[in-house]
Amino acid sequence: IIDDSEDNDADLQTRPPVVVVMGHVDHGKTSLLDAIRHTNVTESEAGGITQHIGAYQVNLDGHVVTFLDTPGHEAFTTMRARGAMATDIAVLVVAADDGVMPQTVEAIHHAKAANVNIIVAINKIDKPGANPDHVMEELTKYELVPEEWGGDVPCIRVSAKQQTGIKDLLEMILLVADMKELKANPNRAAKGVVIEARLDKGRGPIATMLVQNGTLHTGDIVVAGTSVGRVRAMASANGKEIVSAAPSVPVEITGLDSVPTGGDTFNAVSDERLARQLVEQRRTAQKEEQFNARTKVTLDNLFEQMQIGDMKELQIIVKADVQGSVEAVRQSLEKLSNEEVRVNVIHGGVGAISESDVMLASASNAIIVGFNVRPDPVAEENAKRDGVDLRLYRVIYDCIQEIESAMKGMLAPKYREVQLGRVECRETYKISSVGTVIGAHVISGKITRGSDVRVVRDGIVIADDKVASLRRFKDDVKEVAEGYDCGVCLEKFADIKVGDILETYTLEAYRPE
Ligand code: GDP
Repeated sequence: IIDDSEDNDADLQTRPPVVVVMGHVDHGKTSLLDAIRHTNVTESEAGGITQHIGAYQVNLDGHVVTFLDTPGHEAFTTMRARGAMATDIAVLVVAADDGVMPQTVEAIHHAKAANVNIIVAINKIDKPGANPDHVMEELTKYELVPEEWGGDVPCIRVSAKQQTGIKDLLEMILLVADMKELKANPNRAAKGVVIEARLDKGRGPIATMLVQNGTLHTGDIVVAGTSVGRVRAMASANGKEIVSAAPSVPVEITGLDSVPTGGDTFNAVSDERLARQLVEQRRTAQKEEQFNARTKVTLDNLFEQMQIGDMKELQIIVKADVQGSVEAVRQSLEKLSNEEVRVNVIHGGVGAISESDVMLASASNAIIVGFNVRPDPVAEENAKRDGVDLRLYRVIYDCIQEIESAMKGMLAPKYREVQLGRVECRETYKISSVGTVIGAHVISGKITRGSDVRVVRDGIVIADDKVASLRRFKDDVKEVAEGYDCGVCLEKFADIKVGDILETYTLEAYRPE
């Protein structure tokens, strides 16, 4: 019932570009989106109501640009993970007084992985410490070479605060859009993507949709993910009632029978009964899918995936405690490339494995390797949920070996770690005869005398050790369970601090399946 036919060139018309704004926190994403909105949304259009629907359009000399109003690459990648490529151009905001920061790098990698054009907005040029040239120099390290230095990345100097350079930025967006020849066919049933959705007490499910092809009309029957309904009312991003929405136009609609998920695709269809059947099928399939987690590339199934032959690239994300390790690992891993598979490090960074890393891995079907770092709790949970293979190592050599063996179908580690528990250091005492005693609390699992221990501080592994002695009150004990306090002495490590986490584990011999 969904019309998936290709459009004839003759039916295609130019459509506005769809733009997202990304960048490091506090570099001015929100301010820039506000500045763009204020300089170019005409008063009459706004009709006094400034409503937030997750997207808006501006008009520059008759040319329209659509902005998705959810700054940050998380929303962007969540959508991509669900198969929705909603955007054409990413505006990367970099504060001229601060330069390229970790989330800038993340944003660059997210945008590159999604294959969208990047335009850099060097923001805050009004500030005394602003140094746009330095920003551009830093960007070249990430293969973003400014146009003015012979590269292909437009860099526009702006001040969101003083609203300068905004017009230049919009003109550049239109220029890039022009080169991309973005087209769609307005004369067919609408399809597109759900930007965001919520339940309104009075009006029922409300969804902001971006039309990507065709035209959406009030009264159309719409299937959005596992929701279905007839479009009851439509409002433009400026809060005006409208009856139709052409390609690249964001609209807020009511009339769906449930709340769809951001990133769901939608289609207008002609047969309501078939539409309801389709949604029923999808709902059943969704339930099944939740049982059989998606087949992601993992080291355990890598060889099989390579044999099937549709895997041309092994995508890897590398996180480590120091930049030197990230680079060393990147180089060693990329050298593993062979005729069948190219090993490609799509993102590398310093610090704990974050939610954003897992999201990028999930969207790009990548595996994550960490050196002397740990996932934060949300990241760990999401990796499990999404089937993202997350491997932690202490030694670079072990990682290279393991991935190399996996590529040859000979992944056969003889031992694996069995996690025992997590213990938090709450106090430390220096006792001259025994050294440092840790006043500890078992957060989960247990700690046992003689068990192996990893000391983790702020997501970074700082030491490997063993439990030398374990006490409850004055008594030596063999183990202490979750919820209890205890005194712990480690064999070697003395530099323990309050807040450090001891991960306890043992090694178990096992036979790979
Ligand atoms: P976001 O976290 O990237 O969305 O950043 P915001 O838009 O919230 O801006 C962070 C801070 O930088 C706020 O205090 C803004 O007022 C300030 N800011 C944003 N743009 C500019 C600018 O062009 N010049 C100056 N001086 N400050 C700015």
